[in-house]
Amino acid sequence: MSEVRYMEKAIEAALQNVISKHGGPFGAIVVKDGKIIGIGRNEVTSSNDPTAHAEVQAIREACKNLNSFQLDGCEIYTSCEPCPMCIGAIYWARPKVVYYACTKEDAAKIGFDDQFIYDQLALPMENRKIPMKQLLPENGDLPFRNWENSHDKIEY
Ligand SMILES: [Zn+2]
Repeated sequence: MSEVRYMEKAIEAALQNVISKHGGPFGAIVVKDGKIIGIGRNEVTSSNDPTAHAEVQAIREACKNLNSFQLDGCEIYTSCEPCPMCIGAIYWARPKVVYYACTKEDAAKIGFDDQFIYDQLALPMENRKIPMKQLLPENGDLPFRNWENSHDKIEY
């Protein structure tokens, strides 16, 4: 199957999601060695999960199918340029390439504007809309010290 055909499948998932009123107009698929191993659609409102973006859903399904926490050698096709959260998830999953159809500017035009997150990230913590404050009790770094000293941890 060609790259365009895979993208059409991601777009079809997005379209069906709108038609079925299941969630936002976003779909994504994960492909490995020419095989679709994950399909995701936006399920934020239907599952009451603000992290249920199409890319995250597709990554979860693909990793489950691969029985791995990495998407080595995989391609992600998403109907829209990923938001900052999904870019983070994609970097953690480490696929080899991401293809997107619509841009974040296209998404902003219909009310999905994630520019404010990019703007927030650039601000010092004390100036952000959602306060983020350090609160470190004594031994708050104990998990880190245990991790550092562990000899049988699964690194990722
Ligand atoms: Zn996202």
